[in-house]
Amino acid sequence: MGEGTGVLYLVGTPIGNLEDITLRALRILKESDLIAAEDTRRTGLLLHHYGIKNRMESYHAYNQERRTPVLISQMLNGKSVALVSDAGSPGISDPAFHLVCAAARESIPVIPVPGPSAAVAAVTVSGLPTNRFAFEGFLPVKKGRSTRIETLKNEERTIILYESPHRLLKTLADLERALGDRPVTVCRELTKKFEEVTRGTLKSCMIDFEARPVRGEFVLILGGNGLSDEKNHAE
Ligand code: SAM
Repeated sequence: MGEGTGVLYLVGTPIGNLEDITLRALRILKESDLIAAEDTRRTGLLLHHYGIKNRMESYHAYNQERRTPVLISQMLNGKSVALVSDAGSPGISDPAFHLVCAAARESIPVIPVPGPSAAVAAVTVSGLPTNRFAFEGFLPVKKGRSTRIETLKNEERTIILYESPHRLLKTLADLERALGDRPVTVCRELTKKFEEVTRGTLKSCMIDFEARPVRGEFVLILGGNGLSDEKNHAE
């Protein structure tokens, strides 16, 4: 690669289980001129697992302003860049968006190499309606948090939220206070050793997780406004 027009590949990588990667993703990681990785340590483990040796540079929220023009100029000079996030699909709650916009502005082709995303994995196992859903990512931690939660009140679609372990209980409580005791599925450590899918309501999940240490990565799948009883998942 590296001849002619440069390209930006968005390469999906596993959200836990290293086997969740496509043959195409492995080839692109091997053949690209450069891998831009959000977490070079985590991507390094993946590359090592598959015996891939390639040039890797960091690209994350704290260096994206500085690194974007450098990567753009490399691609304009015909290089192919494979962008990977710490896990899952680049562009979903990570800095890929910034680079994609910059590449699009320069008419550099942006090519998806799809793979897993925690959001899709979680909503599909949730048992809540998947015909329409809204991805909300992380709720604001402080400023704008209650306003954002308020906007969810009338949302009829199933809602997908990412959350960190140390804020899980607070988020369940804040949501219950504002939206009532809605059905929720708490997905923890998907595709990993301690994978767990807890289906219940905001209150029942709070009680469950209050009783034990809260560890790992979480996605919350929240029932939309007006979800009828027969569509509720089994509690
Ligand atoms: N780009 C990623 C994707 O496509 O899923 C998401 C990146 S975001 C910075 C990381 C968040 O995704 C975590 O804090 C957690 O909420 C969720 N997450 C990632 N891996 C997960 C897993 N194996 N199980 C549950 N949630 C996960």
